[in-house]
Amino acid sequence: MLGPVILAASRSDKMRRFVSAAPGTRQVVSRFIAGETVEQVVPVVKETIDKGLEVTLDVVGEDITTREQAYAARDAYMELIEYLEDLGLGTKAEMSVKLSMFGQSLEGGHELALANIRPVVEAAASIGTTVTLDAEDHTTLDSMFAIHEELRKDFPQTGCVIQAYLFRTEEDAGRLAAAGSRVRIVKGAYKEPAAVAYQHKAEIDKAYVRILKILMEGDGYPMIGSHDPRLIAVTQELARRAGRKLDEYEFQMLYGIRSDEHVRLAAEGHRMRVYTAYGTDWYGYFMRRLAEKPANLLFFLRSMITK
Ligand code: FAD
Repeated sequence: MLGPVILAASRSDKMRRFVSAAPGTRQVVSRFIAGETVEQVVPVVKETIDKGLEVTLDVVGEDITTREQAYAARDAYMELIEYLEDLGLGTKAEMSVKLSMFGQSLEGGHELALANIRPVVEAAASIGTTVTLDAEDHTTLDSMFAIHEELRKDFPQTGCVIQAYLFRTEEDAGRLAAAGSRVRIVKGAYKEPAAVAYQHKAEIDKAYVRILKILMEGDGYPMIGSHDPRLIAVTQELARRAGRKLDEYEFQMLYGIRSDEHVRLAAEGHRMRVYTAYGTDWYGYFMRRLAEKPANLLFFLRSMITK
C-alpha cells in the first residue's frame, strides 16, 4: 500500500525539499548511495572488485529541466570514465545511465539524449568497458529502445533494461534476445497504471520468469537484476536447462541491498555486478528504494525522530 504513495512522492518537489532537509536523511541515504563525488566512489569500486565482484556505476540524477543539466550529466560520466581508465578495470566496471538525465524529457529530447550519450558510449568503448541504458517510466521506453538500437550499430555491446511489470516486455525480450545483446531484466521500480503494467507482486514475478526463459533460451547475454531469492534459484535452474555456462549470464544487485548475497553468489562462481549509485541528486533513486521495502521507510522515519 505504501509503495505507490512513496513513488508518487518521488516526483514531488515539495517532498524533495522536505526529505532533503530532514534530520537523519544523510545517514539513511548513505546506505544506498556510495558517495557524492567520483573521488568518494572510486575506493568503493576498488573494494567491491577486491571482493571478487563487478560494478555498474550510476551517476544519480533524472527529470532535469535544462539543456545545461543534460550537458553536465554527460560531463559527469566523462569524468568518471577518466577515473576508470586510470584504474584499468575493463568491463569489471561498466556504467548505467538514465536517458532522462541526458535530456530525453526536454523539447527535442530524443535527439538531444542520443547526441549527448554517444560520446559517453564511445569513451567507454575506448577504455574497454560499456554502458547500459536503464529503463525509466513506460512513456520513455520507445525512445530508449530506439536510442539503444542506434548506439548498437557502432557499439553492439551497449546494454539496455527491460521491466517485467510491463505488458509489452515479453515482446521486447523476444526482439532483444539476439546474438551479442546485453539485456538486464528487473521487476520495475516506477508507478505504472493498470493499463500498461501488472499491479500485483505474484503477477510480476510470473512475468519475470516468462521473460527470463525467453532471455535464457535466446542468444544474448542476460543480466538478472533482482534480490529475490526465488528468482535467483529459478535463474540458476533455467540457465542449467538452457545449457548456459556461468560466464554466459550474470546477476546484478544494488549497492547496500543483500550484500552478503553478492559475495555468496560470487563465491559459487557466478558473475555478480553491484549497481553502485553515487552523486548529489539522489532523491528519486532513494525514494524508489524506500518504496521497494516499507521497512526502509520505518527506518528512515525513526532516524528522523531520534536525531
Ligand atoms: P523484491 O521482491 O522487491 O525484493 C526481494 C527481496 O530483496 C526483498 O524481500 C528484500 O529482502 C530485498 N530488497 C529488495 N528491494 C529492497 C530495498 N529497496 N531495500 C532493502 N531490501 C530490498 N528498475 C527499473 O525500473 N529500471 C531499471 O533500470 C532498474 N535497474 C536496476 C538494476 C539493478 C542491478 C537492480 C537490482 C534493480 C534495478 N531496478 C530497476 C529496480 C527493480 O525494478 C526493483 O524495483 C528492485 O530490484 C526490487 O525488486 P527485486 O527483484 O529485488 O524483488
